[in-house]
Amino acid sequence: MTVQQEIQELLKGRPKKFIYLDHAATTYVDSRVYEAMQPFFQVEFGNPGGFYELGKRAADAMQAARETVAGVLGCRAEEIIFTGSGTESDNMAVLGVARKRAKEGKHVIISAIEHHAVERPAEQLEKEGFEVTKVPVDKFGRIRVEDVKAALRDDTVLVSIMYANNEIGTIQPIYEIGTLLKDHKALFHTDACQAAGALDLNVEKLGVDLMTLNGSKIYGPKGVGVLYIRKGVEIQPLVFGGGQERGKRSGTENVANIVGMAKALSIAQAESETENARLKELRDKLIDGLTKIPKTILNGHPELRLPNNVNVSILDIEGEAFTLFLNEMGIYASTGSACTSTSLDPSHVILATGLPYECAHGSVRFSLGRKTTEEEIDYVLEVVPRVVSILRKISPLNLDADKVREKGQGDLKYI
Ligand SMILES: *Cc1c(COP(=O)(O)O)cnc(C)c1O
Repeated sequence: MTVQQEIQELLKGRPKKFIYLDHAATTYVDSRVYEAMQPFFQVEFGNPGGFYELGKRAADAMQAARETVAGVLGCRAEEIIFTGSGTESDNMAVLGVARKRAKEGKHVIISAIEHHAVERPAEQLEKEGFEVTKVPVDKFGRIRVEDVKAALRDDTVLVSIMYANNEIGTIQPIYEIGTLLKDHKALFHTDACQAAGALDLNVEKLGVDLMTLNGSKIYGPKGVGVLYIRKGVEIQPLVFGGGQERGKRSGTENVANIVGMAKALSIAQAESETENARLKELRDKLIDGLTKIPKTILNGHPELRLPNNVNVSILDIEGEAFTLFLNEMGIYASTGSACTSTSLDPSHVILATGLPYECAHGSVRFSLGRKTTEEEIDYVLEVVPRVVSILRKISPLNLDADKVREKGQGDLKYI
């Protein structure tokens, strides 16, 4: 068969439905969340700052939401701040803590695989005279506690390490880093946007001082975030105004989104055990099937990974072309992270694991969700090898798996 015939054959099998496998980029809003939010658009629309009944009811709803979130995190309601996104919470933590503590020290530690919402504010701090150390990761994308320890200095005021990575799903040793930092003045922030629903968020157990969450990854609304700030930790606000959120984040509160965020988090927590077990099975089926394709590398940790994350580098193909083909076949997956899909730069996360540039280019993430079924995974496993075969026929690349093995440090047993 010619490549053209192969493409025509493939496209004949195009389904009418689409299969959404990009839950790490964002999720749909759960119906229970949607329902809980409804009253706050047209009926209970009061400003929570108002002294009349309508305002008071909005304030009460917000307080209930704060208590719900605090219940999941094992903290006090007054330690929860609602923001406009995960990005805003990350910025508030990184910039807010560092700027507040600039007189005590101007050194900040982050990891090499942080989301841009942490990385970019850290770069901003460099412009303001701070020094930033990026701790590396191992071949599985895992941070070593020893590296954090080695990076710590007397003038370190903040350590920000994500709980689980959004691209490769690797889970980080947050508890161990929290323990390490107990006797150090540095405050500890973790970006837990991808961890919510999958991992234990108890801030006492983890030993974190600040934690970021958002709604859009947990079947809640987009445009809402949470920042847990341990009592006694002071931050410099990013937004000044009417003094809402204990003066830390001014602006009339988005009550509907806040109610939705809390509802989404409580559902994620309540269903996490059964849902994670179900997802893990589907995830492993997909990993097993994909890594049977020759010259395919699993990115991230084989075990210490999010229950819904699959990320592979398929050698000799180009991630963008691959996801475009998948799109034609009704499969929505992403290459790199959603935030970088507008650029063709390879993912900084994949590169940090030591894989060569060419492999970072062929990396594809499938992130599973609540409605993902085994039939969908079967369909993906039927389509992907055919797409790979087509793309390899027209690819100028023919990487030597042995060379990649020497050059890189990825988990090449999967090649
Ligand atoms: C999605 C995400 C963010 C950004 O959250 P937004 O609500 O989209 O601003 C930050 N960190 C991680 C790990 C994420 O996955």
